Amino acid sequence: MDKSDEHIARRIEVNGVVQGVGFRPFIFGLAERYRLKGEVANTSGGVIVHIEGPEEKISLFLKALSGSHPPLAHITDICVHHDNLKGFNTFSIAQSRSPEKNSTLISPDIAICEDCLRELFDPHNRRFEYPFINCTNCGPRYSIIQDIPYDRPKTSMKQFKMCDQCQAEYDNPKNRRFHAQPNACSVCGPQILLCNNAGDTIDTTHMVEKVAKLILGGDIVAIKGLGGFHLAADARNNEAVAKLRKRKHREEKPFALMAEDIKDIKKFAYVDSEDEKLLRSAKRPIVILRKKTPNNIAKEVCPQNRFFGVMLAYTPLHYLLLRKVGVPLVMTSGNISEEPIAIDNDEAVARLSGIADYFLIHNRDIYIRSDDSIVRNMAGETRLFRRSRGYVPMPLFINKQTVQVLACGAELKNTVCLTKDNKAFLSQHIGDLENLPTYDFFKMTIEHMKKILDIEPEVIACDFHPNYFSTRYALEQKDLPVIQVQHHHAHIAACIAENKKKGPVIGLSFDGTGYGADSTIWGGEVIVADEKSFHRAAHLDCVPMPGATASIKEPWRMAVSYLYHAYGEKFWDLDIPFVRNINKNKIEVMVKMIQKNINSPQTSSLGRLFDGIAALIGVRNRTAFEGQAAIELEMIANWPVRQGYEYCWTSRDYHVLSLEPIITSVVSDLENGVSQAEISGKFHYTLIRMFSKICCFIRKETNINTAALSGGSFQNNLLLAGLIENLNEYGFDVLSHRLVPPNDGNISLGQAIVAGALYRKG
Ligand code: ZN
Ligand code: ZN
Ligand code: FE
Repeated sequence: MDKSDEHIARRIEVNGVVQGVGFRPFIFGLAERYRLKGEVANTSGGVIVHIEGPEEKISLFLKALSGSHPPLAHITDICVHHDNLKGFNTFSIAQSRSPEKNSTLISPDIAICEDCLRELFDPHNRRFEYPFINCTNCGPRYSIIQDIPYDRPKTSMKQFKMCDQCQAEYDNPKNRRFHAQPNACSVCGPQILLCNNAGDTIDTTHMVEKVAKLILGGDIVAIKGLGGFHLAADARNNEAVAKLRKRKHREEKPFALMAEDIKDIKKFAYVDSEDEKLLRSAKRPIVILRKKTPNNIAKEVCPQNRFFGVMLAYTPLHYLLLRKVGVPLVMTSGNISEEPIAIDNDEAVARLSGIADYFLIHNRDIYIRSDDSIVRNMAGETRLFRRSRGYVPMPLFINKQTVQVLACGAELKNTVCLTKDNKAFLSQHIGDLENLPTYDFFKMTIEHMKKILDIEPEVIACDFHPNYFSTRYALEQKDLPVIQVQHHHAHIAACIAENKKKGPVIGLSFDGTGYGADSTIWGGEVIVADEKSFHRAAHLDCVPMPGATASIKEPWRMAVSYLYHAYGEKFWDLDIPFVRNINKNKIEVMVKMIQKNINSPQTSSLGRLFDGIAALIGVRNRTAFEGQAAIELEMIANWPVRQGYEYCWTSRDYHVLSLEPIITSVVSDLENGVSQAEISGKFHYTLIRMFSKICCFIRKETNINTAALSGGSFQNNLLLAGLIENLNEYGFDVLSHRLVPPNDGNISLGQAIVAGALYRKG
């Protein structure tokens, strides 16, 4: 017998996101292409293939397998073993073996694919204009899964029995709807329904057309989507958008926009090729894009902002609606201020009836909510501001940990994190835990993730702050050991882990607020850290926050504090607009609070310094949302500049970075009539120089050549790009975030890493 005719057998194990994403039909197709025999099955760990045939063909099969795969699949590893010939005559898809232990990965929710989109608008297709069209390459996943293994009876599709035609597709390995769990059509699947804000059904056969008319007429319509409800309005109609703002109690925070096509977006925003890739990706995040002026978008969408947050349509219903309205829509989360987005029909009508005039609902339940994700291209990479729909529950691959950890995250922008082996599962954006519905969502998410990921935590991690709801929750879990992790250490640990590095690093941990190890409020921290411990190597000098949290919403209070810090009572004599224009009595009250130490905690926060400078130079005295003053200060900056202010630091146990020279320089620029734009540019430049220099200093002391950048302040593009560039010039390896947000959305990841490193069994 010729050697090439000799048959061999191989057993191939494939792990990763390989179930419910068309992986077995893909294998089936490959086996057919190379005329190989055997079988493929889902198992607890992923997919297992037994393959028989000539060696040469099998190696081609393996090459094809590792070289390409279905769009939603994500392969983490492929193991090939020798096996015995079993004499298969065909290649088949075997019954799945119900897993006793589940460790396969679940796919995120995915935007409608090109094939389904074509069918959606094809009048000859049986799913023409059917709002729930999907296939193995697209549609809902994470949001509809109630339990594992991922099979239709364990999703919110269980109440819909497939019609014969759908069932035939589902059973046919050559069909792109083979084992697509949410498979449906207008005969057997979910349906949309229109009702008014009293919950009464509106009888109309052309529902989407009707909704389009309502929106174009200035009404606000709540629309049930993939991860929750949106509130939709005509983005060109200023009156409608202003009405939405007023009803939603959302003063100035930008609203997200949705368009059908890139060319529609290009009419009002700059889109480069990287942005376009992100917009079109199956994750369909909101992408931060620079505004074009003039544009056709209502002023109320993004007042005072030079950017728009824009996404492309991602569900079939979005496409149907956008094609009918023909204009971009405001698509903002269906919630009141900071509460979680509504997902249930009755709950939505109850909670949102004061905001929406109409409701476009449907009867496919959303089991777990996820908000739209937000990304921006900055410093040559995609940076996440919010990691949710489309990304979750894909894990981050980290250095292997020996224990399973539950980390409870921060208080604001909360996420939770569960770890298992070399994977960290970061939850979707949960929100601000201060309100009760968000706290309930937090608890539900923890239980849900434990269940679907089959993780039983052995240790629990949380913040140091005694009053965070997430800390209290952790301490209430009496049966588990608790490890408390300092906020800024968690930021840097998250950055180390995301970059798959090991410490120690010089960590620049910059944000608004974090509970410090000395009980003051930290936020402008340079720490030397690894996964287990840290020490504070340098920080911004401390100033009082008159009125504590009130000074976060009223940056003018911080401006008074910085002036007092630099000049003492002499600041009254300064001839600058800030001192001239603000009510003298109010300033006096602040000074008294500072002098007598009344409700004025000390802070080294960089976020507060941004706020204070913004108020001092007249950008704004009050903020309507977190970070607003800092964002506006960044946006007005003259850039690039090559000139900054003086800076200096003191050194005793650690370096204290003086604020005085910076404040006095800003004041003298104000006295000399230097523009806001120029001052802002010089301020940014000063920070970049000062922090780069201190890193060089610490490198001399420690021999550490890696710098890690984390914390909410790194949503500032000038600061991020400037520090990366400057530190690179000084020869540092610079770690920053690309897979998780730099803000408090990464705290749970950092906590999990630290707890995993510290915890020793027993
Ligand atoms: Zn599809
Ligand atoms: Zn059907
Ligand atoms: Fe933080």
